[in-house]
Amino acid sequence: MAEESTGFASISAESLVNFRQRVKGTVSQPGDPEYNLSKWAPNSIKPSKVIVTPAVVEDIAEAVKFARAQGLTLGVRGGGHSSSTASATDGLLIDMRNMTLIRIDEPAKLAHIEAGARTNEVEAATIKHGLGACVGACSQVSVGGYILSGGVGYSTGTYGLAADNLVAATVVLATGEIARASESENPDLFWALRGGGSNFGVVSEVVVRLHPQRPDAYAIAYFYIPDKLPEVVEAIRQWLAVRKGHEAVQLRFSLDMEGKPVVIVTGVSNSTQEGGEKAFNRFRDIGPVKAINVQVPWQEVSNLANAANEIPGNKLCVGAHIDVFDFEQAKKAYDALMELAKSAPFSIVIYEFYAFDKVASVPVESAAFSQRDDFVNVICGVFWMGEEFSPQARDECLKLKKVVSGSSSTKAQESLGYVNTADIFSTLNETDDYARKLFGPNYARLQQVKRKYDPDMVFDRWFAIRPAT
Ligand SMILES: Cc1cc2nc3c(=O)[nH]c(=O)nc-3n(C[C@H](O)[C@H](O)[C@H](O)COP(=O)(O)OP(=O)(O)OC[C@H]3O[C@@H](n4cnc5c(N)ncnc54)[C@H](O)[C@@H]3O)c2cc1C
Repeated sequence: MAEESTGFASISAESLVNFRQRVKGTVSQPGDPEYNLSKWAPNSIKPSKVIVTPAVVEDIAEAVKFARAQGLTLGVRGGGHSSSTASATDGLLIDMRNMTLIRIDEPAKLAHIEAGARTNEVEAATIKHGLGACVGACSQVSVGGYILSGGVGYSTGTYGLAADNLVAATVVLATGEIARASESENPDLFWALRGGGSNFGVVSEVVVRLHPQRPDAYAIAYFYIPDKLPEVVEAIRQWLAVRKGHEAVQLRFSLDMEGKPVVIVTGVSNSTQEGGEKAFNRFRDIGPVKAINVQVPWQEVSNLANAANEIPGNKLCVGAHIDVFDFEQAKKAYDALMELAKSAPFSIVIYEFYAFDKVASVPVESAAFSQRDDFVNVICGVFWMGEEFSPQARDECLKLKKVVSGSSSTKAQESLGYVNTADIFSTLNETDDYARKLFGPNYARLQQVKRKYDPDMVFDRWFAIRPAT
């Protein structure tokens, strides 16, 4: 489990040359022009000895075999959008950024998507056919990283989790073998991939279900002075009482560009402007200092969150689950964030109000994803410049999480937070305590599948599952 100790010098020049010849994509080392370690959170980067940027699935297979033969640890980078080191390694990094082909099977309402494709590429490809996939709110997240751990977004209320809409996947296993997973091919692997993350192999392609999608959606961004927080919270509570599945709202606390505290409500209604206004005008009526409401082409919806991609500096995220949302609790979270912003000025709290009943209606044993309680996910993001704050970032992140979920049920408070935002816990793999907690009732079955497909724990970066003994 420890990071491998094989020094770069010990990879023989001959084996590297041979390896390069077998790969259609690129193989790079520090100093090469193609060598690119970039990630959204620079603090989550590790200096890989070799980066393989595959062009075809066979390249991935070669990379897995080469890493194992050389005793190098293996990491997989998709969109590079987690703030954890799960997609980084000192050894060999498989960087999926060039595997982005998307093929739409319109009659079957299916999309065949190479796993390095990003949200906005999927939106653009599917909408040409009047269809949409279950994608997240961020344009730059890769399909592989997103879907393997669950995947929530603006479609969650209508169609459920992205993982629940997975139909098949092509996976490079720990042996380097290329396998298919679906209800009829390796069904145990298919079950495990729907929530089990990067524990079972490198996913080169997914096939996902598509749904009829209107060409545009109604979006809002309302910015308030903090004094409006009581009214904002009340408006959200009233909206929650009548919310429709195709409506989603986010509440954010942060500093604005001038360093002043701000409360922001953003929302997307997958509807006409009229339908969106009916749902969201209650937020306009509170009197924001800045108001944006607009009908957005569907292929632009995930670009609405692009500001988050451009936040500079270091980042660490954790999710808090809540089942109590009122002014008293929101004010505590707001105060905690503002205190934190004195030393980590870009930090943020984001409440994601996505209807979860569709997700909760799926039996927990039907796929590896086990967080099917109807909780609200809150992203606690600690964002800072420079290194002096780094040693305390983790503690501050946990402190914020504790305040945010403070008045919720014990189950919500003890949750690690929505798995795709549980970055702070995902690499604590000295024991399997966190994996066990995360997967709960599905852990024992996941251990069986791990024994079959990855008994040597080649894939051990993220909530590493121990094979059954
Ligand atoms: C600004 C922002 C907005 C976000 N919005 C949403 C949202 O709306 N909904 C949501 O559910 N999540 C959201 N997330 C969380 C995001 O889905 C996760 O961080 C996800 O893991 C990122 O995937 P990635 O491939 O981009 O990241 P990476 O850091 O590259 O990878 C994350 C994990 O996935 C693994 N992985 C990636 N690709 C593959 C592959 N092909 N095969 C096997 N393993 C792979 C990596 O090894 C690593 O363990 C958001 C994150 C950010 C930063």
